[in-house]
Parts: sequence; C-alpha cells; structure tokens
Amino acid sequence: TEAYLAAMEKGRKLNAYVLETPEKALEMAAASDARIAKGEAGPLEGIPIGVKDLFCTKGVRTTACSNILGNFVPPYESTVTSNLWRDGAVMLGKLNNDEFAMGSSNETSCFPGPINPWRRQGSNVGAGSGAVEGTYLVPGGSSGGSSAAVAAMLCAGATATDTGGSIRQPAALTGTVGIKPTYGRVSRWGIVAFASSLDQAGPIARDVTDAAMLLRSFAGADAKDTTCVDRDVPDYVAAVGKSIKDMTIGIPREYRIDGMPAEIQKLWDEGAEILKEAGANIVEISLPHTKYALPAYYIVAPAEASSNLARYDGVRYGLREPGKDIVELYEKTRAKGFGKEVRRRIMIGTYVLSAGYYDAYYVRAQKLRTLIKQDFEQAYASGVDAILTPATPSAAFGIGEKGSADPVEMYLQDIFTVTVNMAGLPGIAVPAGLDNQGLPLGLQLIGRAFDEETLFSVASVIE
Ligand code: GLN
Repeated sequence: TEAYLAAMEKGRKLNAYVLETPEKALEMAAASDARIAKGEAGPLEGIPIGVKDLFCTKGVRTTACSNILGNFVPPYESTVTSNLWRDGAVMLGKLNNDEFAMGSSNETSCFPGPINPWRRQGSNVGAGSGAVEGTYLVPGGSSGGSSAAVAAMLCAGATATDTGGSIRQPAALTGTVGIKPTYGRVSRWGIVAFASSLDQAGPIARDVTDAAMLLRSFAGADAKDTTCVDRDVPDYVAAVGKSIKDMTIGIPREYRIDGMPAEIQKLWDEGAEILKEAGANIVEISLPHTKYALPAYYIVAPAEASSNLARYDGVRYGLREPGKDIVELYEKTRAKGFGKEVRRRIMIGTYVLSAGYYDAYYVRAQKLRTLIKQDFEQAYASGVDAILTPATPSAAFGIGEKGSADPVEMYLQDIFTVTVNMAGLPGIAVPAGLDNQGLPLGLQLIGRAFDEETLFSVASVIE
C-alpha cells in the first residue's frame, strides 16, 4: 500500500485519480496486517485497489465525475466494493471516468482528463522532466482512470463499469485486461446508474489471472439488486490456463467493417491463428444484425439515461442552484450541473421516449435488440464456444483528436463492443499486440451467458 501511495504521488500528472484516500488506505492495510497475523487472511488480503468514481463508497466523496453530484458523500457502500473489502482489498482512492460514464475517451469528466501512460513511438511527450511537446493520448473511456491507473501501476487492479464498452475499450487502449461479465452476474447496487438494462461492473487488471481474482471476489447474488442473478460463482482463477483444445471459436464476418485498418485485421487473423495452434477449431459465423447495434444502442442508452438522470434535480443530491421557484431551481441546477455530452444524451433520450416518437425509435430499437440477441443465440446453438473480434477499431488516439466536432466519430469507438451489452453477454478484452506506432491493441472474446470461465481460458492463451 505504501509503495502504491508513493507511485500515485509521482503519477499524479496522469490525472487517473480524482480523489486519493491515503489515510483510509493505510488504515485498511493495517487491519489487513492484523488479519494476516491472526491467520485470517482473505483472498485479496492487502491488495490495493482503485475504485471508479461511479461506485458509491461510504463516507468517501462519489461524483460520477459530474458537477451535479458536487460533493456528494454516499451514506452507503456499493455491493461490489463491499465484497472487495470483505475479501481484504485496500482502497487507494476514486478513479476518473467520463461524466456518468458517457464517453469513450474520458474527456467528458468534470475533472481534468486522465492521460494514457503509453506514448507513440518516437514521441517525446512526457519524457523526462523537461518541456512537454506533442499530443498526449487518451486512456479510453469511460473507465479511463481505471485503465490509466492499472497500466501505470498506480493500483494493483481497479473496478470499472461497462454499458457499451467502457471496460473493454479502455483496457484495449492501455494494454490491460478488462472483462464485462454477463448482465446479472454482478450487483449494480450502489453504482451510479447510466442505462440500467446495459450497465454491468467488472474489473480492469494487469493480466487475466488478476481479472479472474477480482471478478471472483465481487460477482454473485445480491438481494439489493433484483436483476442480479442467484447463480454460483465458479472459481474463475481455475479457468485460467485451462486447455482450449477442441473448443470452437467463431469469427463473425459482419465485424469485418468497411475501412478497417490493416493492422487491426492482422491482429485479428493472428489471434485466430494462436487459438488454432492451441487446438481450437476456428469457424466463420454470421451475426447478421450487427450493423444495427450501434444505432440501436444510441437510442436505448440515452432513453434509459434520461430517465435515470431525472433524479438530479438540485433537491436530493449535490449541486443546488437557487431559483425564484422550484421549476427555475431545477432548470438552473441541471443547466449548470450537467456537461455537454450528458445534456445531449438527456435530450436524445427524452425525444425518443416522447409520445409521438416512442414507437418509431424506442420500440424499434428494442426489437433490434432482440434480433441482435438471437444472432448470438443461434451462433452458440450451432456449437460455438466463444467469438473472437477486435476490441476497438483503433489504438489510443490523441486528447482532443476525436469527437469534438462530430460526436458520432466518438460513438464509432464502440462498434465492436456494444453488441455484447445489447445481448447481455460476457466479453473480455485482452492485449494482443502493438500497432505500428508501438501502441497496444486488444482482441475481444464474447462468451455464452454466464460462461465467463471459457473467456478466462481462451484469453489466457492470447495474453
Ligand atoms: N462509449 C459508450 C457511451 O458513451 C459506452 C460507455 C459505457 O460503456 N459506459 O455510451
């Protein structure tokens, strides 16, 4: 814990943490020492963890990186973090993210954005202590604080959330491992809600084993979340390194999108080759409704967000801007408290849910969601054990480089990841190589519902 606290101080310019909690960390570490001395060590005893600022932490400021939550201090602890502390983990602090987890670069945070510790080859950005030139890269989003902190070794592992790719895309852009579990595998209780039917928490970690250890700790039934499923949590760590001989891995032809960079295609082909050498059968499959996933996601997610974010009215939490009456108080608080991307989502969501447009947009998007889910069910029914795809369409990009003029450019980052949330399936991103500028690239494996074990086995062959 002391070593990590020292690293955090040195790495502060990466803006990975929005709040450091050193006193709490040392207190928890001392309690860990005491348990170890008594022979009562938990499975994660003394392991220092960073927490995405979307997870409520009792008595510790939780903002979702939005001004509207201001100095909100939750009186309760999320189930995910409670489970980690129960198993002996130590909290180092709260990690940066896109405001309410809306974004793919962590640039919508109300705090200064986190910086990817990776640099383009030949770039002298951040080198030494001298002048900084050129462009820093984003660590992906929305869990960019988590990915940056894990990649820069400012924590041993981190919690993250994934609504449309926010665990897998930042993991891919920082050379770390991130898994979005099956919807219902992990309790959402105490996590600030973005789109409740898509949100799922998972770990970002340095390797597949660490990710398996963290998920094993915080997955499982929780009476406080009715969508959390009461199923046994297998020993994910035991799945790491297991033979994948005779498994069938599907390669979906619809993921070969127009304009796919040659190096992403190459990474994907090489990944398939590695799995083949390990004894897996590689088959081409079709997921015909893939092209509708991104547009349907950007209807469903904002719709649910507009409803979830209605609670931030200046009365119950955080920021309050006084007005002459209650309506003006609402208006002023929400106008001041929400950033641009969040306001855009609220407006889109309110529009697609409004009486005249509900059938034309929201209902159709939900129908597409069913078709996307059925595509996967058919592939798995045909004997496929897992599906291999690229995790992202590009390596890490520069801060300010994407999305400022055209938000859709940023939304395209999620092209390979949103299908998984729409279908409620588990997906893991695992580092698989470097691009021609020396930046990490990731592959994604998509599994059957509640079969995270297969993902850990296959991912450990690739890493
Ligand atoms: N980038 C996607 C969005 O902005 C996904 C974010 C997420 O998974 N939280 O909605």
